[in-house]
Amino acid sequence: MSSISANLMDIRARIAAAEKDGGRKEGDASLVAVSKFHPASAVEEAIAAGQVIFGENRVQEAARKFPDLVAGNPGINLRLIGPLQTNKVREALRLFDVIETIDRPKLAEALAKEMERSGDRPDLLIQVNTGEEPQKAGVLPAGLDEFMSLCCARLGLPVIGLMCIPPIDDEPAMHFGLLAEMARRHGLETLSMGMSADFETAIRLGATHVRVGTAIFGSRPTTPDA
Ligand SMILES: *Cc1c(COP(=O)(O)O)cnc(C)c1O
Repeated sequence: MSSISANLMDIRARIAAAEKDGGRKEGDASLVAVSKFHPASAVEEAIAAGQVIFGENRVQEAARKFPDLVAGNPGINLRLIGPLQTNKVREALRLFDVIETIDRPKLAEALAKEMERSGDRPDLLIQVNTGEEPQKAGVLPAGLDEFMSLCCARLGLPVIGLMCIPPIDDEPAMHFGLLAEMARRHGLETLSMGMSADFETAIRLGATHVRVGTAIFGSRPTTPDA
């Protein structure tokens, strides 16, 4: 067995245990395998081990890596988990099944326009900067109500949930709890939170999607896969 398939089995068991622990239903939390910087061959190993949901954080890298993989494995579900520039919106809508990182009016407006033109309508999540870090993407918690009404009421975007990346040095549970509360308040069902180091905590606090890279694929090469 490859180490990727062994790692996947281990993570799935830990997800099931965390679901049980948190009083969640079995299968409530989906595993997003974060394959950024890893080659297509690593993704193929994960697919062979039954993995279908993948996350990439760069449009260009995903555009090089995934079309062939998707052609050979039509069930693949691909999610954008990194920042999206407005000049990449067209390509992102073509490539991704879910975009998790909607975080500013200009991007929301570009998405609405391009969705109208192309008819591609992937599900969207709003990224929330729960730690209010100046260098980090995401809407501030205090700005979420206004941003939601722009996205949903004014632009009619298919927003189905929220995503966050807590500050590295903070207790993640506080951020996961805050994100879950904001989602509840807005009637949003999808919660993307938790990574290799803290996905079990995220599941106990309501994550529907955990984004796990290192614990599946090992440590990342230092540059994107060419
Ligand atoms: C890279 C990345 C992950 C995966 O992180 P690991 O610690 O390797 O599991 C999750 N979410 C986002 C947004 C990422 O960029």
